[in-house]
Amino acid sequence: MSVFEDGDVVLGKSVVEISVLVLNASYEAINVCTLKRAMKMIVKGVARTEEATEWEIHSPTISLKIPSVIRLVNYVHIPHCVVKFSRKNVFIRDQYICQYCEKLFHLPMLTIDHVVPRSRGGETVWDNVATACKKCNTKKGNRTPREARMFPKRSPKAPSILTYLYLNRHFRTYDSSWTKYLYII
Ligand SMILES: [Zn+2]
Repeated sequence: MSVFEDGDVVLGKSVVEISVLVLNASYEAINVCTLKRAMKMIVKGVARTEEATEWEIHSPTISLKIPSVIRLVNYVHIPHCVVKFSRKNVFIRDQYICQYCEKLFHLPMLTIDHVVPRSRGGETVWDNVATACKKCNTKKGNRTPREARMFPKRSPKAPSILTYLYLNRHFRTYDSSWTKYLYII
């Protein structure tokens, strides 16, 4: 059964433009799909709505709230993917926000802070680096967070491939209901 055709419009957007977050049965975010595909999965019974918008869709046979997050009924094994560590990817993970003063900066104003400084044995790895503006990085200097009393807003960790792809492409337009399933603010 088809719920939508490609040309259908919901909330002023084509049904193939609206993104829905797909969770595994384990609540792990595994994909982003179009509303059209999400509705097909719901109708087939492959997925259920986990978070719904306040909007409803009506067709002759079905009346459903428009989902923003769906969850697979059966668990699907997905091999672990790792995002390449790089300065640019750290900025993307942190959405160009200084993890100390929590302000958004343009690229030239940003630096990579070693949470535990290199001089104290801190490594250059996902879970020991945070995006910092030049001012905060200088202020923190060669001190640990405890010594400087400056703690990153979020404990740094490697982003999942999905989070990375999502932030990289669409980080300004995600639905607020996605945030608790992704490594974003
Ligand atoms: Zn700052």
